[in-house]
Amino acid sequence: MLKSENNSLLNISSILAQAGCSVDPSTGGIVQPIHLATTFERDVDGAYSRGYMYGRQGSPNRTELSNILAQIEGGKRCFMYSSGMSAASAILLTLKPGSSVLLPHDVYYGVTKLINETPGISVNPIYADFRRHADVADALSQKVAMVWIETPSNPLNQITDIRKISAMASEAGATTVVDSTWTTPLLQRPFDLGADIVFHSVTKYLSGHSDVLGGAVICKESNRQSDLLDTAAKNSGNVLDPFSCWLTMRGLRTLPLRMQRHCDNAEAIAEFLLHRKKVEIVHYPGLKDDPGFTVASQQMDRFGAMISFRIVGGADEAIAFVGKTKLHKRATSLGATESLIEHRASSEGPDSKTPQNLIRISVGIEDAGDLIKDLDQAFI
Ligand SMILES: *Cc1c(COP(=O)(O)O)cnc(C)c1O
Repeated sequence: MLKSENNSLLNISSILAQAGCSVDPSTGGIVQPIHLATTFERDVDGAYSRGYMYGRQGSPNRTELSNILAQIEGGKRCFMYSSGMSAASAILLTLKPGSSVLLPHDVYYGVTKLINETPGISVNPIYADFRRHADVADALSQKVAMVWIETPSNPLNQITDIRKISAMASEAGATTVVDSTWTTPLLQRPFDLGADIVFHSVTKYLSGHSDVLGGAVICKESNRQSDLLDTAAKNSGNVLDPFSCWLTMRGLRTLPLRMQRHCDNAEAIAEFLLHRKKVEIVHYPGLKDDPGFTVASQQMDRFGAMISFRIVGGADEAIAFVGKTKLHKRATSLGATESLIEHRASSEGPDSKTPQNLIRISVGIEDAGDLIKDLDQAFI
């Protein structure tokens, strides 16, 4: 239950069903207009009593979207960036050059590329297996400024115990960031488990229709670090445009329904894959034998809708399988209504550490029976 604008307690679904639906006072329109204005009128005395001055500093669609994301995530402040990775770079830029950041081995490959290849991002990455708490403790015995959690991880669906790792980070004086892109605020609540910052690629489930590129950073507290994130966005112009904010708001209205269907479908497909002879292993934390099942059951409401599996063989067999699907679209990315399938290693490029026989599916909201039929015919 969350506090609504008028302070009554509402379920998150009720808040989201009416996201962006505040009545426009000048027309009575029940959906917020898209405010494309880049500049705003001053009062006769030179003040800005309506709160807006210039589009880079702030604009109405961005304010509304930030407010609702902060509210549903349970944080104090939210900032919107022009992509997930630009949000990630804003987070890393709040650190002093040379600071150490502890990351899991199976972190989203874009984060590794951001740290290794981007001029001006000068943090020192340290990697550990976050499922081995002794290894994390070892790594934290060096001076670490930030611990970057991603759970479930991309693409191996490894589960990190957020409560445990963020407690260890806090004891070591490090800030905990959780990349919650795969779970949304509906399936996992990192702030309740001890995280300081939650990160989302808005490109995925939050907007939900493969037509927005965006990122969000939500801070549990209003503090110096959140001020730096705000400043980074405004001074660099690394902000989400009004139309993308509006489309994301529209997507949010159906997020609870979509997530329910995504998860129902994924559970059915993971079970189906588990029993195929040509499947070596299925990585999905909702399967009872998955190594992440116990922790996932404790910290997730449901297990999400990303599945990866390894096919018997290598890259050739995996690419051939993906080439035979018809209903699943062959494309990277995730979190939209349509199901996407990919040979993950070749999407990540020549430096990829992902197994060559791994296929990743973003399970959409089509009929589960139709999706299973499509995969079934691809095995033949
Ligand atoms: C897609 C993704 C990102 C990057 O977000 P972009 O919007 O593509 O820049 C980061 N983390 C995870 C887990 C993702 O899936």
